[in-house]
Amino acid sequence: MAKSLIFYMLIFDAVFFSGLLLYFGMEWYWAILPVFALLGFIVLACSKIQWNFFVKAIHSGNHSTQKIALTFDDGPHPNFTPKVLDILKKHNVKASFFLIGKNIKQYPHLAERIVDEGHTIGNHSFTHSQTIDFNSKNAWLKELNETDLEIVKIIGKKPKFFRPPYGVTTPHLAGALKKSGKTTIGWSQRTFDTMSINPLKIKEKILKNLKSGDIILLHDSHENIVPMLEQLLPEIERKNLSFATVNELINEEPYF
Ligand SMILES: [Zn+2]
Repeated sequence: MAKSLIFYMLIFDAVFFSGLLLYFGMEWYWAILPVFALLGFIVLACSKIQWNFFVKAIHSGNHSTQKIALTFDDGPHPNFTPKVLDILKKHNVKASFFLIGKNIKQYPHLAERIVDEGHTIGNHSFTHSQTIDFNSKNAWLKELNETDLEIVKIIGKKPKFFRPPYGVTTPHLAGALKKSGKTTIGWSQRTFDTMSINPLKIKEKILKNLKSGDIILLHDSHENIVPMLEQLLPEIERKNLSFATVNELINEEPYF
């Protein structure tokens, strides 16, 4: 059964049970409990990308490969993307960048540099707006298509991989992704690197949980990423793990 159908059935059930409780004379505050429980469930189902509730995403690669994939969201950024690329080049590490369409439009030379240096790029929406999760299916398709167009200008091909902004998925996004035929890429390690003020702590958190096949979510949009990577890369190399792009890790073509 389609997840969106289950979703609408749950809404119906919650409203139905609330009505039933009111009908049998329960106080109103008891009657609204099913609706609140449902709202809590919906918030979790939307925000927990690992649940695969609305959108089936890939969160890791084969655990026996001794490979991990670093992924960078929200670029290209004029200050930090060049520095991230310099560090990756110094360590001969290939990574994957989920780019925001409007940023590609503003800094096309940086998107070109990412590709020229052997990294994979994917779609991370066009606007990445704070209200993007309330988008209709058509508004999502516009986000996907506009970013695809910017990427086509750079590499002549559409990206197959998409990462949802904030990791939030909704029935409308699911509909748009189905139509676009994209593969959704999640993560096995969310580092919350944009929220931490201590690069050392981000690095230690990654190393503590690190395992073969990991897809690690990072951002090339903040100043801590540079010192964090400088410390992280040599330590991962010492663990006998190698770096792969997401397409290498999951063995899937990154472009249509
Ligand atoms: Zn993002």
